Amino acid sequence: MNDPIDPADPATGGEASEPYYTTASRANVVACHACGLVQPLAYTVEKQRCTRCGAAVHRRHPDSIARTWALLISAAILYIPANLFPIMHTSSILGSEDDTIMSGVALFWNDGDYPLAAVIFVASILVPMLKLFTLAFLTISVQRRSTWRPRQRTTLFRIVEGIGRWSMLDVFVITLTVALVRFKSLAVITPGPGALAFASVVVLTMIASMQFDPRLMWDNIEPSGKKYD
Ligand SMILES: [Zn+2]
Repeated sequence: MNDPIDPADPATGGEASEPYYTTASRANVVACHACGLVQPLAYTVEKQRCTRCGAAVHRRHPDSIARTWALLISAAILYIPANLFPIMHTSSILGSEDDTIMSGVALFWNDGDYPLAAVIFVASILVPMLKLFTLAFLTISVQRRSTWRPRQRTTLFRIVEGIGRWSMLDVFVITLTVALVRFKSLAVITPGPGALAFASVVVLTMIASMQFDPRLMWDNIEPSGKKYD
């Protein structure tokens, strides 16, 4: 008995056809975030629900740009107290002291602990700032319907998203290293108001990167039919 001919498979006598690429959006379907079921996109329904599991389904994250901006601006505002207010208060037999992130960095630098000063500077000052700027840049590029280097922009987004997973580490790294290195003796360390602001910056930036929908970058490219690199 002969095998049935699969038109897409040369091994069974069919001819390999060109792979067909499209987006769910162009095919007028939408995938459920919770269960993955792909279903027709209902344009008439305001809040579409998954026909299988009942979760809300969206073509793109709802109000992605507005929400990303709101979170980014809040994070940028909190970045100021995070750096101005003391991040930790230490009291020991030798006395008590308040330290901001920058004063901690300066302290280690002056003591000759250059690697430690560099790690704290990068993790607590440079990376949060770069993340804010990168997300703001990506959001502006989407708003301006930019067709500039979508692949590179997508890579940038992936980096920001990847760093986000490790962001909370910053908070612990600073407090722990400062505590361990500076006070080998007994000391009571309490977080200062700067620590709360700093943690908020980290969390808000993380949520902002979740609200940003990277597919919006490609929405501006594909209808125009421009070649991307
Ligand atoms: Zn579902």
